[in-house]
Amino acid sequence: MDEILIIGAGVTGCFIARELSRYQVKVTVLDKENDVGNFSSMANSAIVHSGYDPEPGSLKAKLNVMGNAMYDQVCKELDVQFERIGSLTVAIYDEQLPLLADLVKRATLNGVPVKLLTPAEAKAMEPNLSDNVKGALWAPTAGVIDPFELCVHLMENAIDNGVTLKLNEEVVDIRSFGGIWEVRTKKNTYHAKYVINASGLQADHISGLVAPQTFKITPRKGEYFVIDYTQPALVKHTIFPLPSSLGKGILVSPTYGGNYIVGPSSTVIDDKEDLSTDKPTLDEIKKSASLMVKNIPFHKVIRVFSGLRATPSTHDFVIEEASPNFINVAGIESPGLASSPAIAKKVIEEFIAPKLKLFAKASFNPNVRPYHRFKKTSEEEWSKLIAQDRRYARMVCRCESVTEGEIRDMLARNCPPHTVKGVKKRSRAGFGRCQGGFCGPNVVAILADHYHIPLTEVPYDEPGTNIVKGATKEVGE
Ligand SMILES: Cc1cc2nc3c(=O)[nH]c(=O)nc-3n(C[C@H](O)[C@H](O)[C@H](O)COP(=O)(O)OP(=O)(O)OC[C@H]3O[C@@H](n4cnc5c(N)ncnc54)[C@H](O)[C@@H]3O)c2cc1C
Repeated sequence: MDEILIIGAGVTGCFIARELSRYQVKVTVLDKENDVGNFSSMANSAIVHSGYDPEPGSLKAKLNVMGNAMYDQVCKELDVQFERIGSLTVAIYDEQLPLLADLVKRATLNGVPVKLLTPAEAKAMEPNLSDNVKGALWAPTAGVIDPFELCVHLMENAIDNGVTLKLNEEVVDIRSFGGIWEVRTKKNTYHAKYVINASGLQADHISGLVAPQTFKITPRKGEYFVIDYTQPALVKHTIFPLPSSLGKGILVSPTYGGNYIVGPSSTVIDDKEDLSTDKPTLDEIKKSASLMVKNIPFHKVIRVFSGLRATPSTHDFVIEEASPNFINVAGIESPGLASSPAIAKKVIEEFIAPKLKLFAKASFNPNVRPYHRFKKTSEEEWSKLIAQDRRYARMVCRCESVTEGEIRDMLARNCPPHTVKGVKKRSRAGFGRCQGGFCGPNVVAILADHYHIPLTEVPYDEPGTNIVKGATKEVGE
């Protein structure tokens, strides 16, 4: 039996698991997907927001600012790519200037350093800002992060420190017997003293299995464009419009990987699995973004995608004990990524530590084994790697410069990819201009070889999404 069972291996569940792995407690994480970070934590703007915008005093405000401050240390320990590039929130109409001034007050209340810039100062920082810019709010602590890497490295470190991860385990029922929770998935039954519900969009349903529903989660879709690298840079900082009741608005930002993201839209929908994109929405995104930033090279779009925000009816994060020893960590919409290190600390300090004696684990190691990245390594260092393993000389993905050695190393770790998408999320092979046209077959072959399965059994993502359907010709020995 586990002491603590976490439902959900998105960024929230991964951070909580890693934080708990510091202590002598038995922890298991269950997720219905075949990989960690496979839902909202995968499809978002990947901004570690500074925290100037949430309602002062709200959990969102407190945890965003706390979480933001924790990221340097976390990313250093876990070898996660993170850069504090700062953000500019721009006013493009005179009527918006008072709103910009209000944001300064809000930022001050939230404890976030910001500075108001004149149009000339803003344009000096970002030459592609619209000529109509009337002023901007500079927030230097905002950053961009690799959210896939974050989830994977958090879980890898948690597993290194004793946590158990069970994927493909969809929780369908939860009951309490004599103070012990019995959690049934479609395949197995688990028992634990504490359950932490970090199931994202499903958190209202999961909570409803054990207690009367006090909140509802509504999916709110955000669609995006991904734009290829440009020279000179399109923008160097994250460019936001003024926030509204619909959220932070449509941004233009470099990503941690060096290309650009434009989006997200904000559409309330019914279906918690609907990740489609549509032309009218994408056209609206183009229009809105072009009001703030000129020369956006929409002819260089390499992908469109969407993500679903888990919007709570309470308008704030729901972090509560729904039933004795059953903790909801729900409604974690934006700025959930930025807040998640602080969410994990809060859950443990306020809900677990007062009830369960937590003894520090002497063997806890906060660091993951460093990753090798061709793109970020000197020629001399890479030559040394090649001397040890020739597979570091075989370029698998030409757009993103990823070698077979890097993918083999990821497969040898304790939270390995099982799908082409899993390799893409970890290594960036398939993220570039050709979107997997060149590297796709190589990645399928590497996965087939590693797992000793036929090429036809390697899925792109969920079961049934196999790329290789069969042989087109009979090839003799
Ligand atoms: C469009 C968009 C833009 C965003 N931009 C930002 C941003 O720039 N900065 C920021 O700070 N935040 C941003 N966010 C918010 C951020 O992405 C979320 O706050 C964060 O990813 C939430 O993580 P989570 O772990 O709570 O949820 P999820 O990542 O959704 O994880 C929940 C997990 O629970 C699992 N699960 C669900 N039901 C079950 C079940 N029955 N059994 C087992 N497992 C189950 C799911 O498979 C999933 O893996 C954005 C979100 C979106 C959608």
